[in-house]
Amino acid sequence: MTFHPTGAMMRDARALPFGWTPAVPSPTLSVVVPVKNEADAIAPFLHRTVAVLAALVGNAWEILFVDDGSTDATVVAVAAARATHPQIRLLSLSRNFGKEAALSAGLDHAAGDAVIPMDVDLQDPPELLAEMVARWREGFDVVYGVRRSRKSDQVAKRATATLFYRAHNLLSPDKIPEHAGDFRLLDRRVVDVIRSLPERNRFMKGLFAWTGFKQTGVLYDRAPRAHGRSKFGGWRLWTLALDGITSSSTMPLRVWSYLGGVVALAALAYAAWMVMLTLVYGSPVAGYPSIFVAVLFLGGVQLVSLGILGEYVGRILIEAKQRPLYVIRDRLGFDGER
Ligand code: UDP
Ligand code: MG
Repeated sequence: MTFHPTGAMMRDARALPFGWTPAVPSPTLSVVVPVKNEADAIAPFLHRTVAVLAALVGNAWEILFVDDGSTDATVVAVAAARATHPQIRLLSLSRNFGKEAALSAGLDHAAGDAVIPMDVDLQDPPELLAEMVARWREGFDVVYGVRRSRKSDQVAKRATATLFYRAHNLLSPDKIPEHAGDFRLLDRRVVDVIRSLPERNRFMKGLFAWTGFKQTGVLYDRAPRAHGRSKFGGWRLWTLALDGITSSSTMPLRVWSYLGGVVALAALAYAAWMVMLTLVYGSPVAGYPSIFVAVLFLGGVQLVSLGILGEYVGRILIEAKQRPLYVIRDRLGFDGER
């Protein structure tokens, strides 16, 4: 049977949405790179990264780009690079699913003994791979990059990032290392654990922390973005922060019972005080302002707690729908296909 190449690939994608067994012998290192509209960044990224990989493991590497719904020439740039390095592979998602989903797709399809998610904008210095691999060979299962400073960030981003890490680690049982991004080396065992997690909400840093294993950090300086602009604005980061906290902590749900208890106790004490006052001084003066304040305050508290309930119910809905995390439209370099 013959199919139009694209048609054949779509059939494959439908038959094997998650698993994949590569025909070629499995590489030692897989670098997974989510890309969205990064045509100009591909060549400089490969220039530096391939040199580092070749020095570390010879030919036993692969770079797996996950095209997250790019609308520019990103796919063309990757396909062109494949001509010189057949170890470069590409998955194209059917639309923009977001970086976390793109990373999941990459982890699902990477074949290496260790997998390294990296950004394409060279903010994660490829040269750090040497140190990561050295720690991995010493026996660590996760080697994450920790930023020495946040100098390359704007003041607001620096402050909110610190606030987020503090809040997350206060509320959640899975402590994430501060100022460590997605740039890290993951042993195959860790990748397999993450792949086996059924949840749809993929806050990757939280999942990496949850898996446990032997983890260590290596310090690095995060460079400013080499090409183009950041795709994470304030609102997107806020949503990510909410995902991060609500996906691993139930503290925001529980805190309302305590707050309610404290308010109820205070109300009881106040009632007792009023009874005493009435007994001693007779009927009290009408307390309009205090009632008004109490009503407003309690109304506000109830709305906030309802909102937080809503956050969780919304996430339960997403999980209950059991939709796939991503949809693959095309792939390059899989199953011997050229
Ligand atoms: N990215 C992606 N999908 C998106 C947004 C970003 O795959 O919806 C990729 C992007 O191409 C880059 C990486 O994720 O390789 C990090 O994005 P960016 O540099 O914009 O984030 P920042 O470094 O500002 O946090
Ligand atoms: Mg970046």
